[in-house]
Amino acid sequence: MTSLFADLHSHTTCSDGRLEIPDLVSKAVNVGLQALAITDHDTMEAHRWLRREGMPEDLLVVPGIEFSCNEFGRDVHILGYFLDPDHEELQRYEHEFRQDRESRARSMVSQLQGLGVKVTFDDVMDQAKTAPIGRPHVAAALIERGSVRTIQEAFDKYLDYGKPGYAARSPFHIREAVQLIRDAGGVSVVAHPHRTFTDPTLFLSLIATGLDGIEAYHPSHWPVTREYYRTLATQHRLLITGGSDYHGTRDYDEQNFGTFGVTQDLFEAVHTKH
Ligand code: AMP
Ligand code: MN
Ligand code: MN
Ligand code: MN
Repeated sequence: MTSLFADLHSHTTCSDGRLEIPDLVSKAVNVGLQALAITDHDTMEAHRWLRREGMPEDLLVVPGIEFSCNEFGRDVHILGYFLDPDHEELQRYEHEFRQDRESRARSMVSQLQGLGVKVTFDDVMDQAKTAPIGRPHVAAALIERGSVRTIQEAFDKYLDYGKPGYAARSPFHIREAVQLIRDAGGVSVVAHPHRTFTDPTLFLSLIATGLDGIEAYHPSHWPVTREYYRTLATQHRLLITGGSDYHGTRDYDEQNFGTFGVTQDLFEAVHTKH
């Protein structure tokens, strides 16, 4: 895709991504992107770091975040763009999420220990370092201990919803995330809806929360799925966004980076909206 302008979905070591911020920035420049949104899970630490250390000159880094909501009995990810990383209420929420993720990781570790799996909370912390703890960090700790061979195996055996090592986070509603993003000056977009919203009626209740856009271009969407969400967005006058969801931890991440994203006109629409 030669007209690709921006990748609006990516992760760094500030959450569960493999690359440090400068390495991800260089990678984006190398594949010819003009703009990149860093959207770590439940944290804007990457953007506060960039404000302190200096923004790159050859790439527009869009301040972003990917919130983990849970509603309708499932995880729903809501992306925020162009929010202020220094917004106080936002930072209070980030702090709460960090603590909630920590206590949830402790529960998961004790559940795993109860199953006879050798893993400690410190093993998990060694993987997460300063990031809010996610299941991929638990998976990495299990690989390090030799309990599983791959991240996928860790999820299949222990960490997926309903598996014996799974623990839920505290509830966070979509409406609350949408409001928080708006209060922090940003634009809200539902991430990879096809993973969560196969039911059209449910999707309408999602739109009713006041959401600004839909992530139509995502590696988990088939071309027909993209078209479906593009049409839905147009019908409801919502923004259309897209990105690779690059983590750098899965084989397919490399071919997706520089392939999934948006053209300049779609990017400008998001920029103008905020
Ligand atoms: P958490 O935020 O702790 O609930 O962990 C969710 C993260 O785990 C997602 O953002 C993905 O990066 C990763 N993930 C979720 N499901 C799977 C899976 N089945 N296999 C591998 N990674 C997964
Ligand atoms: Mn992730
Ligand atoms: Mn997601
Ligand atoms: Mn993501």
